[in-house]
Amino acid sequence: MNSNLYIDTRGKAPHPVSFTEAVIDGLAPGGGLYVPQHIPQLTIEQIVSLAQLPYAQRAALVYKAFAVDLSSEDIDALMEKAYGSNFDTAEICPLTTLDANTHVLELWHGPTSAFKDMALQCLPHFFSASAKKLRAEGKIDHDFLILVATSGDTGKAALEGFKDVDHVQVGVLYPDGGVSDIQRKQMVTQTGGNVRVWGVRGNFDDCQTGVKNVFSDEGFAAALLEKSSTALSSANSINWGRLMPQIVYYLSSYAQLVAQGSVAAGDPVDVCVPTGNFGNILAAYYAKRMGCPIEMLYCASNENRVLTDFINTGTYDISHREFILTPSPSMDILVSSNLERQLFELTNRNAQAIEGWMTSLRTTGCFRVDEHTFSQLREAYRADSIDNETCLASIREVYLRHRYLIDPHTAVAWKAAENLRGQNPLIVASTAHWAKFGANVYRALHGLSAKDALPAEIASLTGCQLNQRIAEETDSTVPRGLASLDDMPVRFTDVIDGTPEAIEQVAMEFSQGR
Ligand SMILES: *Cc1c(COP(=O)(O)O)cnc(C)c1O
Repeated sequence: MNSNLYIDTRGKAPHPVSFTEAVIDGLAPGGGLYVPQHIPQLTIEQIVSLAQLPYAQRAALVYKAFAVDLSSEDIDALMEKAYGSNFDTAEICPLTTLDANTHVLELWHGPTSAFKDMALQCLPHFFSASAKKLRAEGKIDHDFLILVATSGDTGKAALEGFKDVDHVQVGVLYPDGGVSDIQRKQMVTQTGGNVRVWGVRGNFDDCQTGVKNVFSDEGFAAALLEKSSTALSSANSINWGRLMPQIVYYLSSYAQLVAQGSVAAGDPVDVCVPTGNFGNILAAYYAKRMGCPIEMLYCASNENRVLTDFINTGTYDISHREFILTPSPSMDILVSSNLERQLFELTNRNAQAIEGWMTSLRTTGCFRVDEHTFSQLREAYRADSIDNETCLASIREVYLRHRYLIDPHTAVAWKAAENLRGQNPLIVASTAHWAKFGANVYRALHGLSAKDALPAEIASLTGCQLNQRIAEETDSTVPRGLASLDDMPVRFTDVIDGTPEAIEQVAMEFSQGR
């Protein structure tokens, strides 16, 4: 165990906290995000030797380099559970090489077929071990209700990660009619004794605003604690316990590339990540800071291009931006919360600057970084935005060229990398299995536009049937968890209003076992 603690990006927390406290609290008091006081360093030999270990041990080794106030044995045991037979390959996140210099990092071999599993198969173990520790120390004596608003991927990954975890309930709200057939079925058929799922009348924004308002309602928090001895918590990607697991796969894939002879130890690689909340790409940045020879980070946006514009201009501006629906919904975002951590690091940890920019964003919808920070940003990042039609065309292009099927999020990254890349070997982060987005993959393969209606015969198929069709056409496979969804019993059918009152009512009933 080492004594590294966690500080916050706005300098408002009264004192640094331990890992377990950072995991349980999520957000720091005053609205900042937790980051480690010191970024641990690994030598190139240590990084390269990760390839000799099973993935669970790679993760454990990296966490021990960070500050984790759990015993070494506990960390080992938790990682065995997090990265085991719940993934459909022992490699956990294999690399597929498309051509000598292009390697796709498949982050979707977990139980819900999206990259969120890489963190959410791990965080619940940290969460429950942390709660247990704090309970033993007499610091808490309540249970937790994890409430998640989802546009599709996070909700299912949180349900699957937290199902049947002691002292935790998990409730997920999704926009009714606003997620794909497969995504909805994944959630409403969720097993486990501590889970519940509600559809919300409205779009994702209504859903998320409703949940945010519940989180800021102190009266409700007090009532929940008094009546059910339960505290609200969130599993969103600002939690350090979700970010840290993502650092592992960048270190790990570098080691893999060296082991397979694609890169000489110490030689640089570039990484391209389809980006929404900036969690995944930030993990690559931390891997680089720890000593991984990553040269350029390519940030790929869809038509919601606020991050690309920021990286290209130094101004983050959502004051006149509309939220656009795209074939890559998990990147449909305006406020990218993990960017705050990146700015903290780029300013050499200037909490005052961060506080100012975040206040400006909240009050005017815009902030501009200073010249020094902008040049630091440009040293690490390049960015590009890919429109909806180009995204679908890229799925087709990669399939025709390599007989390899990618999902729309991965397609955005692949195309952005094509536009931005130099000579270095490239890792493209692949964040979802194509079968989560069958309708648009079908459009792509058949040369249809993102706006085109599917032919009537195709439109009449269930998501599972359509995936089966695509799999046959392309000689691909559908993950087991997605293939069997039509046969799973539907457990949750409630659709509620997105008002805080309506959400609070169902949350209270759920916490009381009704
Ligand atoms: C969440 C998600 C992303 C975006 O990741 P961030 O860490 O939020 O930037 C990209 N692709 C898929 C499929 C996702 O589920």
